Order: sequence, then C-alpha cells, then structure tokens
Amino acid sequence: MKPVRVRFAPSPTGYLHVGGARTALFNWFYARQQGGSFVLRMEDTDAARNTDAARQTIFEGLRWLGLDPDEGPEQGGLFGPYSQSERQPIYAATIAELKASGVLYPCFCPRERLASLRTTQEATRQPFRYDRACRAVSAADAASRIAAGEVPAWRLRVPEGKTVLDDLVRGEITVEHADIEDIILVRGDGTPIYNLAVVIDDHSMGITHVLRGEDHLTNCFKQIIIFKAMGWEVPRYGHLPLILGPAGEGKLSKRKHPEAALEHYQARDYHPEAFINWLALIGWSFDDKTELMTRAELVERFSIGRINKSGARLNIEKLASISGDYIRRMPLAEVLPRVRQHLVKAGLVAEPLSAAAEAQVAAIAAAEHERLKAFGDIVEFSRWVFAAQPTMEEKALKNLKKDAANAAMLRDWAATLADPLPLTADMEAAAREFCTARGIGFGVFVHPVRAALTGRTAGPPLFDCARILGAVRCRERLLRGADLAASEPA
Ligand code: GLU
Repeated sequence: MKPVRVRFAPSPTGYLHVGGARTALFNWFYARQQGGSFVLRMEDTDAARNTDAARQTIFEGLRWLGLDPDEGPEQGGLFGPYSQSERQPIYAATIAELKASGVLYPCFCPRERLASLRTTQEATRQPFRYDRACRAVSAADAASRIAAGEVPAWRLRVPEGKTVLDDLVRGEITVEHADIEDIILVRGDGTPIYNLAVVIDDHSMGITHVLRGEDHLTNCFKQIIIFKAMGWEVPRYGHLPLILGPAGEGKLSKRKHPEAALEHYQARDYHPEAFINWLALIGWSFDDKTELMTRAELVERFSIGRINKSGARLNIEKLASISGDYIRRMPLAEVLPRVRQHLVKAGLVAEPLSAAAEAQVAAIAAAEHERLKAFGDIVEFSRWVFAAQPTMEEKALKNLKKDAANAAMLRDWAATLADPLPLTADMEAAAREFCTARGIGFGVFVHPVRAALTGRTAGPPLFDCARILGAVRCRERLLRGADLAASEPA
C-alpha cells in the first residue's frame, strides 16, 4: 500500500473559514493516524486577493490549531514548490501534453457568442452549458487560426460515457458525461484554471486521499476525467458536509456570521485543544455519546467512515462549555500569563506592570478562572475593575436603591475598612459581625455592596472583588454607591 498523502489546499482570500479549518483538521487526523504526510498547498493564483497577509492568516490559523504540515510553503519538501503561483512551469508541461493528445481543444468563440448562448439557454430554462461548437474546428483550421494570431481558450473534451465516484463519505455517485460541460481549463494566456491546476498538483504531489468540502463535489467529476485522460491514478475522494449557521439556516458565511472566520475564535482565544475537539464533532462523531476527547484520542479514533453526509450546525454554546472545561482544568499559573496578555492587549493594564498591578492581575485571574470559557473573556469580565467608577447595570442600581437604609450602611461599612484589606475570610467574618451589630441579614448587605463595588449583580465572590480593588478604591466606590442609593429615582 502506498503511504497516505493528504493535502489542505486553501485559497488565501484574507480569512480562514471555519469549514476550511475543519477540512485541515480531518486531513491532519488522517495523516497522523495513518503515519502519512499532511501537505499544505496554497492555491494562490488570484494575485489580486492572495496577498501575503492572506497567506499569513492561514499559517497562523494552522499554528493556532496545532496542525503542523509535513510539507508546505514554509516547510518546503520534495514535491514543491507548494504555492500554485510558483508552479506555472509544472503546469505548462502537462498542458502541452493535454493539447497534443486532444484532451484539450481550442475554443475560438468570442465572448459575445457565449453571452448570447447564455441568454438563449436561460430563456428556455436550460442550465447554461457550452454547446461544444468549436469541437467542429479541424486541427488544421485551428493551427492556422492560431498562427494568424487568434488566441483561443482551451476546453476539456468530455468523452462519452459516465463517471462513477466512490466517495468515501457519500458513497457511490454516478454522473453521465452528457451532463458535464466542456469547461475551459486553460485561459488564453496559457494559465490553467482551478480544475486543471488541482489535478496536476494532486498527481504530482502524490496525493492519495482528498478530503475537502462538499462544494467541490461537482468539480470532482471533471477532475476525474482529467486524471483518466492523463492515465494517472485517481486519488480517493471524500467530500465533507457543509457547516450550517448556528440556527441551522443555510451555509455559514462570513457576511452573516462572524463565527465563520477562524480569527473570531483566535481573538476570543478559546482553548485550542477544546476548539479542535469541538470542530471535530461538527460533522463527525466517534460514537453516539463521547464528546470530550484529547488530540491523541481524536487522532486514534478518527474515521472517514463516521463523517456525516448531512450538513452540521455550528453550536457555539458547546464550544464554550468544552473550552471552559479545559481552562478550569489548567493550573492557575498557566492561566495567569494568558489573562495578563489579554488585559495588556486591551489596554486595561500597561507594561511594565507595577508590583501592585501584577498582584491585581493575579487576583483577577484567580477570581475569574472558574468562569472563563475563553481566555479573552477576561477583558469583558474585568472592565468593572479598571473603570474609574463601574458602569451600573440596571438591576444593580435597583439593588442599591431598594432600601432607604442602604446609603448609611455603605458609608458605615466603608469606614470600617483597613488598608490593606484583610484576607477574604477575615473580611467576611468582620462583615458578618457588622451585619449582626446592625441587626440586618447578610443578604441585605451583599447585594448593595456588590452593586456599589462592581456595578453588577454577578461575578466573583464579593470579598474577592473587594480585594481586587484594594481598600482605597473600595471606599471610593462605596461612597459613590451611597450617593446613588440616596439619589432620587431618575
Ligand atoms: N482551493 C480550494 C478552496 O479553497 C480547495 C481545492 C480542493 O481542496 O480541491 O476551496
């Protein structure tokens, strides 16, 4: 058996679609499981869109996912170059062969003829398809027209018959060649279009299995025809189901869903191991119940046979839950630098951090560790800390104003606070005594105090919040809270 060689062949358009990331993941799983090679090929023939920044997005996305190519534009390898933009000489040789063998024929039809053909076909509700008019041009005629300066495009001469694809995911699919258009494979300028370049690349890179999105299924038949025309061995194909929007509505698109782009998840900084676990479960399953799996388990358990045929919905809550689980299991010492990095990036703390700021960041990380679903959550979770005064949520303001005695209670408690604040447990004990002395329940105390300190109704344990702020800012906030509590309703 030939060693398995799979490839991920993205077109660098500026972002990596989450469906593309899943394609890369499944190919990587298969390569690692089979002891094969995972090849990265940049399909970057669209010079206008394929900027270096767009290529970097793909490299960075794969790095974040931990999907290391064995061969690719960055790694090099025996089958390079690995960017289509650099492979024109390789294409030219095959194109010459295809022309000589008659698999490609020249098409001299002017644009206007094709346009009117389209109009007629549309009017009679036929699918648009080239009418093969130029098949009738004899080789001698074609040669003299070319010699006279006409520049044809070159079309695939689809033979009679049918192609049967034994798809690894979808099973057997048969297409009659009468239903396949003689598509253009080589432009007037001599460059191949996608369907030809991909075949030449898959062949010359020794690709054995092609796992890719279902949107390439119709292309696949044209590609198989080219493989066969060249007498090349056809790889095995498996077409992955589409990823649907979160509500199951149509295809996931960046225009409608920010979740379509991998960057969205990178920016929020979900735990990458959780992310690949989640991504693997979109359209694939190990059995009917197992959800949490490590990278090593996924590699071991992955099977093309268990990829679903039907589209799979994006379930972000599930990602949050898996990622939260991973983060909770991390030691705080590993969470802290990630949290710190997000706070710096968001401009909430500035480098170099003072000792007090480091201590504050450590206290925030400790207090929020449990609640993080993604490392980037820390920014929204801790805005209350860094604002001069917290923004009051409506419900928090209600808690402040609920009792006429709240203003005095907040001022009195502020006056009891030592600087530095005692440890959490001691603070709580003192606060309970404070409540007993005033003859109020602890519940009457905590809600307005939380509102004054954080502006919110939920968050880390109350005395952790107080210690994150420190005595001076606690006092300031309690006094402002007292003022708000005493103010007239708006
Ligand atoms: N470059 C194509 C894309 O980004 C993929 C081609 C393939 O996998 O055959 O959609």
